[in-house]
Amino acid sequence: MIFDIEVGFPDHLSVVIVGPGPAGIGVARVLRDLAIPDVWVFERGQIGQSFRNWPKETRLLTHSFPRNVFGVADLNAVSFDSSPGWSLRSEHPSGEAYAQYLEQAAELFGVNVQCGLDVFAIEPIENGFTLQTSRGTVTADYVIWACGLFGAPIDAGLPGGRLGRHYGAVNSWDDVEEDEVYVIGGYESGIDAAIGLSQKGKDVNVLSRGAPWLDRDKDPSRSLSPYTQQRLDTFRKCFSINLLSDVDVIALEQEGSRVHTLGGDGRSWLSDGPPILATGFLGGTKLVSQWFDHDQDGIPLLTAQDESTAVPGLFLVEPEVSHQGHLFCFIYKFRQRFAVVARAIAARIGADTSVLEMYYENNMFLDDLACCDDDKCLR
Ligand SMILES: Cc1cc2nc3c(=O)[nH]c(=O)nc-3n(C[C@H](O)[C@H](O)[C@H](O)COP(=O)(O)OP(=O)(O)OC[C@H]3O[C@@H](n4cnc5c(N)ncnc54)[C@H](O)[C@@H]3O)c2cc1C
Repeated sequence: MIFDIEVGFPDHLSVVIVGPGPAGIGVARVLRDLAIPDVWVFERGQIGQSFRNWPKETRLLTHSFPRNVFGVADLNAVSFDSSPGWSLRSEHPSGEAYAQYLEQAAELFGVNVQCGLDVFAIEPIENGFTLQTSRGTVTADYVIWACGLFGAPIDAGLPGGRLGRHYGAVNSWDDVEEDEVYVIGGYESGIDAAIGLSQKGKDVNVLSRGAPWLDRDKDPSRSLSPYTQQRLDTFRKCFSINLLSDVDVIALEQEGSRVHTLGGDGRSWLSDGPPILATGFLGGTKLVSQWFDHDQDGIPLLTAQDESTAVPGLFLVEPEVSHQGHLFCFIYKFRQRFAVVARAIAARIGADTSVLEMYYENNMFLDDLACCDDDKCLR
């Protein structure tokens, strides 16, 4: 594996994976097991950059626990034979610590990662792709898009959204100076912000459209994770967290040195500093969206191999993958598709895929999408 080299990869590669987060590193490892040559992962920052950008107090929600011989992989592991819980000695690692795990995993797996290389655009050509990058043009037979979501905060089109401060732009809750803070959005990042701020002694008001803290959906992609729910229940007893549901924030307005947050029902709130926008992240496929068909909700349409239905050879491995209405937006979900994508590429190259048996044996290979029809498999 080579980091930060100036010159190193050939002009033409077999597979380019864009983004060495858990998705990119995990799928690169499977391609390595299949002995696919000339596979490179490109990263504009450092390995695990999204995790390095989290507020420093934020922890993974899904817990990490070593599996040993018992067959259930650590929920945050990108391979069946690694465990952030074990290597980091932490059940809920911070973003920075998890990025270290990814870096160690990349090194141990022997995958090629080129850091400091921004991919600006990709273009399908005959038998492959051209990638325009900050270090020139590269061609590849296959592209795996693994850019995640965190890099693209959205203010949900809120008029005056620039008066707020997006969750993704906060380095630490220590940086928030005001004593009373408004958080817009009451899902995972909103509640994480509320907990982080309340621990710093702030009075926190969460303004939320619904009441996710009361939602009992069994899929943590649709309701608060047990970790967040547990922390919220604990911290609400000791700290000042005011949860307001049924608030549809329609605009932010400047009022002198203060910010006015306007609700659709006529209510409004004045704050000394910018409200925290916990309004989510734009899909990481924005840069390549023209190469995907989309459903009516804007979700990229994929084949059963997670390949673009519009452009063969372009695969998607990341939280935006969705099949039959089921979201693969946690590591323990989308890692089930690494071997599916790797098998599709291996089959076209003519590589032996028998090694993938071990992915089945280790429960890291969900290729039977009919299973997604069965509600039981998501509980
Ligand atoms: C606060 C928070 C807590 C979370 N907690 C959990 C949790 O507990 N468990 C869980 O399973 N998930 C959790 N998630 C979701 C998890 O972070 C994502 O599912 C995961 O990061 C997605 O992995 P990925 O590899 O697809 O993308 P990322 O980890 O975002 O990696 C994508 C990489 O691509 C790089 N990149 C992007 N665009 C380009 C480009 N054009 N050129 C070059 N490089 C590029 C980025 O710099 C980044 O390093 C959480 C998310 C947040 C925001």
